[in-house]
Amino acid sequence: MECIFCEIAAKKLPARIIYEDEHAVAFEDINPKAPVHALVIPKKHISTNLDIGQNDNMLIGHLFQIANQIAKDNGIADRGFRLVMNCNADSGQTVFHIHLHILGGRFMSWPPG
Ligand code: AMP
Ligand code: ZN
Repeated sequence: MECIFCEIAAKKLPARIIYEDEHAVAFEDINPKAPVHALVIPKKHISTNLDIGQNDNMLIGHLFQIANQIAKDNGIADRGFRLVMNCNADSGQTVFHIHLHILGGRFMSWPPG
């Protein structure tokens, strides 16, 4: 199965990686929607958040810890930022390997489009 985010995690596809550890990778979004737009992914392939299992609870918490650190490192934590995980077609999910979007550096309206 081809998965571009598995390929990024395996360094088979280039990306601007900003964080990496044994379980996760974070990189800049190729088509940024805000001044700061990064993605945090697990190295393990999980297609959508509906596929997150009970054994993944630590892993998912870890992704949020990484996102918080990236927000702090980029100076957007105090002003505010948005974490997004799209799921399936109506949300606009295009890459079926879960990823947490970190968006910040500008005001974002609510509700989202
Ligand atoms: P989603 O629509 O939630 O599935 O988001 C997928 C995100 O992945 C989009 O914001 C894309 O711009 C981003 N993306 C797709 N391919 C790449 C890539 N090769 N490197 C970095 N970001 C990517
Ligand atoms: Zn994958």
